[in-house]
Amino acid sequence: MYMFAQIPERSMHYLRWVLTIAWLILIFSLFFDPISAKLTDYNNLSSPLRVDPDVCIKVQGVCLPQSSYQLGAPIFWGIVVPSGVFILLVFGHELWRRICPLSFLSQIPRALGKQRQKKQTDKSGKVRSEIYKVPKNSWLARNYLYLQLSLLFLGLCGRILFYNSDRLVLGSFLIFTILAAIFVGYWYGGKSWCNYFCPMSPVERIYGEPRGLLNSTAHEDSRSGITQSMCRIVREDGSEQSACVACQSPCIDIDAERAYWDGITQSDRQWLYYGYFGLVFGYFIYYYLYAGNWDYYFSGAWAHDENQLEALFKPGFYLGGNQIPIPKLVAVPLTLAICTFLGYFLGKKVENAYKVYRIRQKSPLPTEIIRHRVFTVGTFLIFNFFFIFGGRPFINLLPKFWHYFASILAAVLSSLWLYRTWIRDPSRYQREGLAGKLRKQLRKLNLDTAKYLDRRSLETLDADEVYVLAKILPDFTHQNCLKAYKAVLKETLEEGYTDFGHSLEILQQMRLELTITEAEHQAILTELGVESAELLDPEKQYSREDWLRLQSYRDALLESLLVTWKKDPDRQVGSELLEVLTGKSSREAIKHLLTELPAAGTETVESLRRQYRITGQEEEAILHRPPADQLWQNIARAFQVFDRLSFSSQSDREQQERILLERFRLFDSDGSGQISLEELKACLQAIEPGVTDKKIEAMLQRADTGRDNQISFQEFRDLLHQFHQ
Ligand code: SF4
Repeated sequence: MYMFAQIPERSMHYLRWVLTIAWLILIFSLFFDPISAKLTDYNNLSSPLRVDPDVCIKVQGVCLPQSSYQLGAPIFWGIVVPSGVFILLVFGHELWRRICPLSFLSQIPRALGKQRQKKQTDKSGKVRSEIYKVPKNSWLARNYLYLQLSLLFLGLCGRILFYNSDRLVLGSFLIFTILAAIFVGYWYGGKSWCNYFCPMSPVERIYGEPRGLLNSTAHEDSRSGITQSMCRIVREDGSEQSACVACQSPCIDIDAERAYWDGITQSDRQWLYYGYFGLVFGYFIYYYLYAGNWDYYFSGAWAHDENQLEALFKPGFYLGGNQIPIPKLVAVPLTLAICTFLGYFLGKKVENAYKVYRIRQKSPLPTEIIRHRVFTVGTFLIFNFFFIFGGRPFINLLPKFWHYFASILAAVLSSLWLYRTWIRDPSRYQREGLAGKLRKQLRKLNLDTAKYLDRRSLETLDADEVYVLAKILPDFTHQNCLKAYKAVLKETLEEGYTDFGHSLEILQQMRLELTITEAEHQAILTELGVESAELLDPEKQYSREDWLRLQSYRDALLESLLVTWKKDPDRQVGSELLEVLTGKSSREAIKHLLTELPAAGTETVESLRRQYRITGQEEEAILHRPPADQLWQNIARAFQVFDRLSFSSQSDREQQERILLERFRLFDSDGSGQISLEELKACLQAIEPGVTDKKIEAMLQRADTGRDNQISFQEFRDLLHQFHQ
């Protein structure tokens, strides 16, 4: 499933703007709102929201005065917040993170190019400016979940005490969070506000990990480098490019399920899941403990209680018809803290009891699975508990049918989520991830799979089906099998999915399926080590996020060079640019190109280096590419047209055509619409002086299906497509 991850960034950008403007209007209405009170006016007989002065909503035995009120706070608490929880469980974290206005606003400093920077001297002695990131082993990096949970706890206490109904305090609080998000966006790169500070982040993790009901599955996505809600930018040609600066690893935006399995055995996750369970329970129960009845909560009176701040030092509990003389200011944090701790201890007890039960049943389970199952059931229960209350003051204004509909909808969707989530486990995740990589290799080998797939595409096969297909395909010989295995192994090492020491174990299941021996695995590892020693060097092992950061930088750099060339195509830099794009002696070519660039272009490159925190050695390493015997393949890969776009829609095909045409013009120096032998020679010999005339002629023959000794755009496109495959 690709779902919301595949919605173009440009569309999401517009949607974010709309939501952000709506949110800002809502905040503004908390300070000045001459309109909405008319909807709640007793005399407005046509409004379903009008207050009824005859209704008595008792708080601690006394009827609350009923008068008209503004709707800003009730809408925020009764519609916006419950919608967030609903979106997270149903549509997944990947949708939420792409539309969240606060996350969007935290990126203002990045968009303005105004982020804190420091000078850094790398091992080669080069001094470069870098954007700050949260340091890997800092207190914040180790304890961010506790910090976010504490902020959530304070936020919920603050709601009941200060800003459930006091519009000025609520408005000031929301403005404060916006300013805090912008400040963090200035202080640290990436989405550090979301990942390290945002109090909503624990809620996102609980409902969004390992995946929402309709979430995409990043580990199986073999088509594009951009997954789920990862940071991305839109290029001039409309295609998308990762903007990951590796601000956190593992990152929930790249692959929520990987982040989930990676952290599941850490003790902060028990606090997160069990503590949250207790906190939410305590939050709603407190309304009853405070008012002495449920009417206070379900009528929504708490969201327009005129005297919220006056109650701070009044009795905070009303039990059995008696006020308990503990001030509300103490009663609220006390109740929520007791419930949070109880939730935590109860969760741990259930976890242990389940573990013991499985042992007694003689089918013990690893800690990850035990914990995952308890987390899953806990999330299911707390989601349904939340929707007994969340949004009810508004739903209760609707006809009875909608009361039942809302309850049934929450129960059905969460049951489907439970069914889909319960069966997950780390080994299944790993198996599917590797099958996704194998699927990619099968596609690249361009084998005839059609007759075995019965009109299905490779993408729709699940992990087991991919392995079965690999076994029955006659063209998937042992040689092809080893080739595919090598590519998978290389990719897993490059992306930090495994390392040299663990690769044998991690890929064991795949070897069994493909009947590859341990000796063959070792031989392939040796080959990879010869081709690129860094791949096996534990010192140079990148995390997936760092690997993405480097790839993103490389793409952004090449793209910026291409854009510069496009602006001034008469400059004689076309062949050098091609050399860079195809990765041949790129370091030198880039150096030269940089001297040719106008000042603005050089500044762009410098700013990219800053943004992605690229050292001299990293730049050297990522720009090194394989030699010229794979020239056409390199060209196809470097142009990336096929990676970025699927062929499913007309607009994708048109966009692909446009980008390819642009690349074609790099070869077609006289602009005749055909690449002649001379033009091909000029380009290729600039890239690879060792390529013989004979070889270039053979390349032309290969492309020239029309037999007119030149390559038309159509032929060029078909050829690159073929080589990409
Ligand atoms: S790790 Fe990369 S994708 Fe994830 S939030 Fe940070 S910058 Fe964005």
